Amino acid sequence: MDSPHNKPLLTVPAKGVAIHTRMVALLKELIVLKSDNCLAPSFRVPFSSCLKLFDQYQAAILEHNQMTVTCRSGCCCCCNHWVEDVNSFEAAIIYDYILKNIPERIPEIIKTCEKDLQQLEHLEKTMLSHPDVSQTPDDQLDQTDLLLAVFYQFKRPCPLLDNNGRCSIYPVRPITCRIYFSFSDPSRCEPEYINEDDIPTYLLDTQEEVSELLDTLHFKYLSFEGNTGLRSLLLSYLRQSD
Ligand code: SF4
Ligand code: SF4
Repeated sequence: MDSPHNKPLLTVPAKGVAIHTRMVALLKELIVLKSDNCLAPSFRVPFSSCLKLFDQYQAAILEHNQMTVTCRSGCCCCCNHWVEDVNSFEAAIIYDYILKNIPERIPEIIKTCEKDLQQLEHLEKTMLSHPDVSQTPDDQLDQTDLLLAVFYQFKRPCPLLDNNGRCSIYPVRPITCRIYFSFSDPSRCEPEYINEDDIPTYLLDTQEEVSELLDTLHFKYLSFEGNTGLRSLLLSYLRQSD
C-alpha cells in the first residue's frame, strides 16, 4: 500500500487478506482460460467479479483504519492526470464500452487525445532540451513522474470525463483510476499541492501477487506493445473506427 512521506500506513485486516486471496484465485483462472478474446463473457464475467472484490478489499481496509474518503461523484480534479498503466484487456473493454454506449463522442475524444498527446510530447522535448531544469533535487521523482506531474499542472481533463465532471465509462474505468483516494478537502487535490507531504491522497492498490497476475494477463491480451497510457490507447483503438 502506497504511503509516501509522513502519511500514516493503512493496515490490511484479515477480511481484506481473505478477499485478496479470492482475487488471486479468480485471476489465476483467467490466466489459464483458453480464449484470446477478453471481450467474451468467459473473461468479462470473472473479471467483473474480480473488480467487485477489489471494491470490497478497499472498503475493508478503509473501515478497519477508520478512514473517511472525501471523493464524491462529480469531484474530478484528479481526472486531469495523464492516466498511465492501463492494462491491455482494460483498454479493449473500454473501447467496446465506448462503441456501445457513447459512439457519438468518438470524434471529440480523438481530438482531445491528440491535443493532450501533443502537449505531453512537447513537454517531454522541452524537458530533454533543458536537463538542468528538469533535474530533480533528489531521487524521489524520476523523469517520467516529473513529466506527468508537469502535465497535471496544465489541468487537461481526461477525454472520458463528461460535462458534469463524471467518468463516462465509470463501470469499466481502469484499475489505475480505481486506486486513487483522498481523505482531505478536495481543493487540496489541485495541481499546486501535488507534492506536498501532508496531503492525504493515497494509492490504495492491490498487493503484489494480484499486481503480478494482472501483469501476466496484460501480456496475454497485448494488442499495442509498449502502450499503456489511456489517451494513447484510446487513439490506437478509436482511429480504427473513425
Ligand atoms: S482524489 Fe481528490 S479530486 Fe479526485 S475525487 Fe477524490 S477528492 Fe475529488
Ligand atoms: S477514465 Fe474516468 S476515472 Fe479515469 S481519469 Fe478518465 S474520467 Fe477519470
